[in-house]
Formats: sequence, C-alpha cells, structure tokens
Amino acid sequence: RPVIGVLALQGDVREHLAALRDQGAEAVAVRRPEELAGVDGLVLPGGESTTIAKLAERFGLMAPLRVAVRAGLPAYGSCAGMILLADRLLDAPPDQETIGGLDVTVRRNAFGRQADSFESEMAFDGVGGGPLHAVFIRAPWVEEAGEGVDVLGRVVGGEADGRIVAVRQGNLVATSFHPELTGDRRVHALFVEIVRSRMASAHPAARAGADA
Ligand code: GLN
Repeated sequence: RPVIGVLALQGDVREHLAALRDQGAEAVAVRRPEELAGVDGLVLPGGESTTIAKLAERFGLMAPLRVAVRAGLPAYGSCAGMILLADRLLDAPPDQETIGGLDVTVRRNAFGRQADSFESEMAFDGVGGGPLHAVFIRAPWVEEAGEGVDVLGRVVGGEADGRIVAVRQGNLVATSFHPELTGDRRVHALFVEIVRSRMASAHPAARAGADA
C-alpha cells in the first residue's frame, strides 16, 4: 500500500488526506524532513503558496523537498501546490521560493478579481469517465509549458478560454483547481496510480509478486 504524504504546513490538508485514503493509500501529514523521507508520494495542498513556502523554509523542508522531487518522488499539487511545483512564477513576490521540478511558468491569481472563484465542467485527459467538475479559488494558470509537459486540461469558454489548468510531467501532476473539495476522486486516483507504478518499477521483485 503506497504511503502518500500531504505537506501539512497550511492549506486544505485534511481534504487531501481523505481523498487519498478513499483511493487506498496510507495518507500521512508531513511537517518534518524525517516524515518526508518515509513517503512514496507527496501532495502539495491548496492554500497560500507564499505562506507554505515560508513555513517550508522555516521547518527545514524546502531543501529536502527540492532534492526529493528532483530525485523522482511523485508529487501532485493543487492550486497553491501547482505554484510550489513551478519552475517559474509570474505575479509573485520577487523573493517567493518554489520547490520547482515542473517546467512551467505559472501565473498566480491569474483569473483576476471578477472570476476570483468559480466552478466549471472540464475535460481532463488521463482519466476516463467524462468531464470533471473543477473548483477554482484564486487560482493560478499555466502561462507556458515546456516541451516535456503534457497538458491535461484547459479552461473552456469565457475570457480565460484555452488557458492551461492541469499538467503532467513524468511523476509530477498539477491542477489549478481543487478536486479534493469535490467528491470526484479521479485526479487522486490518477496520482495514486503514478505512485504505485513508480513503486513497482523501483522494486521489480515486488511487482513480480503482485503480478503472480
Ligand atoms: N492564490 C493562492 C496562492 O497564490 C492559491 C489559492 C489556492 O490554493 N486556492 O498561493
């Protein structure tokens, strides 16, 4: 059973823990480097990315997070979590640090005041079962994605039509929206699957056992 951490410095940690448990993962809160060392995957929750980044520095987690993500630890970021995984930021304080790893430029609070928070039905590549109900709260979008980045979802309609709001690059997934706030578990299911397949490829013997 995969052990999946949720970075628990600030934000909607509980909702992610519940969504991961629904998908059969052992979900644990991560606040310290020792806790990070014990997980097979990590969720970066929605919240306030500047606060989360500052607390991560203060708790001595920023450097270990960077090392872990660059070493291939699967990570999924929703909203503020997407910002934390981005290599480049727009509309952020100049001193805002990120974990990075995702070759994207993310614009914070991109939807502007009129569309501060909204919900929309969205096609999401990589999961079956029809459109996803997406909840956006002071959400970022991906302004630019590098070549190795798969776009999983875009806004449909309105002023932001076509804007990228879900991406995957290898073991990293990010969404501008908050599937943890809806009952739809397909994004978490996709992430748990990514964690499981990395575990299987890291331990071929375990996979042989599982396949038998
Ligand atoms: N606006 C927040 C930030 O920049 C993200 C909002 C969210 O996670 N719901 O960190």
